[in-house]
Amino acid sequence: MFHRVATALLLASSLTTAAIAQEPDRASERFRSHVSFLADDLLEGREAGTRGYDLAARYVAANFEGLGLRPAGGNGSWYQEVPFVRFATTAAPRITIGGQAFVHGTDVTFRQNPEAGEVRFDAPAVFAGYGLDAPSLGLDDYRGLDVSGKIVVAFDGTPPGLRSDVAAHLDSDKRRAAAARGAIGLILVRRNAADRQMRGRPGEPGMTWLQPDGTPFTDAPGLRFVATANESLAAALFEGARRPLATLRRQARPRGFALPRPLSIERDSVNTATRSSNVVAILPGTDPALANEYVLLMAHLDGVGIQPGTAEGEDRIRNGAMDNATGIATLIEVARRMSQDGNRPRRPILFAAVTAEEKGLLGAQYLARNPVVGDGRVVGVVNLDMPVLTYDFQDVIAFGAEHSTMGAAVDQAARSMGVALTPDPLPEQGLFTRSDHYMFVREGIPAVFLMTGFAGEGEREFRGFLGGRYHSPGDDISQRFDWKAGARFAELNYRIARAIADSNEAPRWNPGSFFATAPRR
Ligand SMILES: [Zn+2]
Repeated sequence: MFHRVATALLLASSLTTAAIAQEPDRASERFRSHVSFLADDLLEGREAGTRGYDLAARYVAANFEGLGLRPAGGNGSWYQEVPFVRFATTAAPRITIGGQAFVHGTDVTFRQNPEAGEVRFDAPAVFAGYGLDAPSLGLDDYRGLDVSGKIVVAFDGTPPGLRSDVAAHLDSDKRRAAAARGAIGLILVRRNAADRQMRGRPGEPGMTWLQPDGTPFTDAPGLRFVATANESLAAALFEGARRPLATLRRQARPRGFALPRPLSIERDSVNTATRSSNVVAILPGTDPALANEYVLLMAHLDGVGIQPGTAEGEDRIRNGAMDNATGIATLIEVARRMSQDGNRPRRPILFAAVTAEEKGLLGAQYLARNPVVGDGRVVGVVNLDMPVLTYDFQDVIAFGAEHSTMGAAVDQAARSMGVALTPDPLPEQGLFTRSDHYMFVREGIPAVFLMTGFAGEGEREFRGFLGGRYHSPGDDISQRFDWKAGARFAELNYRIARAIADSNEAPRWNPGSFFATAPRR
C-alpha cells in the first residue's frame, strides 16, 4: 500500500457476522510458506531495485513455472524489465517572493521531481481554487484563467460532498490538470489553516520509469515542481491579493484570480538509473471466442526495504509480510486453483507481481502502458494489496465494485462463502487511489480491490496494523497471523476472478459512474 496520506483514523461501524467456511489445512500451510519466504530477513524488505526484490521475483517466477503458466515477459522470460530513474534533491530547494526566501523543510515542502540539474526560474502565480478539472461534476476551477507558463496556487483536498473514491481521484489528478493547462509549477495551500504543517528534512528519493526515448515518464509534463506551502509561505503568496486568503478559506467554491507577486524557484536534483522487473505470466483460457480478453490478477511484490538510520543492533528490515507478501501468496494460490487440470477459466488470465508500488504505483503504471498480452487487452483487474490476515474475517470491503459490472461477481463470490460486503469504513484514507489497480482505472479499465473488513476483531486488527506495524520492521512473520483466513481470502479472490473470467460479457463501467467518463491519464 502506497503511503500517500497520513491521517488519523476515526470511525464507528456496526456490522453483521457471517458464517465461517472451513478450508483444508494444506491451503493454509501453502499460504504461510509463501509469506514466510517473502518476508524473510534474507530478502531485506524487497525494495524495488535491490537484490532482495530480485530474489523475491525469482521465487514468484519459479512458482508460476511450477504451475505450468506461460512466461509473458517476451522471449520466454518471466520478467518485464522496467528501466527506472531515481531522483533526489541535493540542496534545500526554495521559493523567493519579494526578496524573502521560503525554504524547504520549514516554510514549504517540495516533492521530488525528475527534472535533473540546477533549476532556476521566475514566474507569475495564479490562484485556481481547488485546482480541479472535472466539468462532469461541475468542478472547473481553471475556467477563465490563463495559467500557461505560470505557477498554479491551489487549495489541497476537494470541496465537501464528493464520494470518497471520486475525491481521492480528483486530489491525485491535480498535477495532471495543472500541466494540461500549461502550468509550470503547482503550490498547494492548506484549505484549513489548522491542518498539520510539514517540517523536516527532504524526503526519500523519487522514482519514475524511463520512456523509450530515455526521458523520465511524468503524468504532468512541463510541471517543473510541486510543493505544499506552510502558513508562512501561504501568507506571502496572498499578500496584496485581490481577495484575502482568510476569506477564500471560508468560501465553498472559491474562484481563481492572478496573484500580484512573481515567484523565484530554486532547486537542484540529481538522477541515477536503476532497474527492476514485473513478474508476468499467462494462463490461456478455454474459450477461443474470448481469447483476447484478459483478466488481470495483480499484487505488488516490492516493499519499502531497510529503514534508514544507524541504531546498532536494532531491527531495521521492513519485511512487508502483510504489505504485501500476503497479496503475493494470494496471487500464487489463485494461480494454483485456476491452473489445475480441468478447471481452467474461459478467458485468459494475466498474473502480474509488480514492482515499485511503494514508489508510486510505478510497475503497474508501466504494465498498463506497456501491455504484455500481444493482440489482446486487459478487460478487468483484480488487485491484491495488504489484506490484513491476523483474524478470522467475516466481511470485506470491495473498492471499485459499485463502479462496474465486476460488482456482481464480487457479490456472488462473497455470498457463496458467507462473507458480507461492507462500505469503505476509512474514506479519509483515499485507499481507492493508493494501490496498483488505480493505474488501470486511469486507463479506463474497471478494477476491484478487496480488503478484509471491520466486523468482529477486524477494526481493532486493522487499526493496530496501520497504527503500529505498517511500513515498519514490525510487519514481519512474528506478528499474529490467521493462516486459515489467508487461505479463505485466496479462495474468495479466486471465485471473484473466476466469475469475471467465465462471464459471457467482459466487465464494463456502470452507466453514470464517474470513472466511466473520468479524464484519462
Ligand atoms: Zn505499502
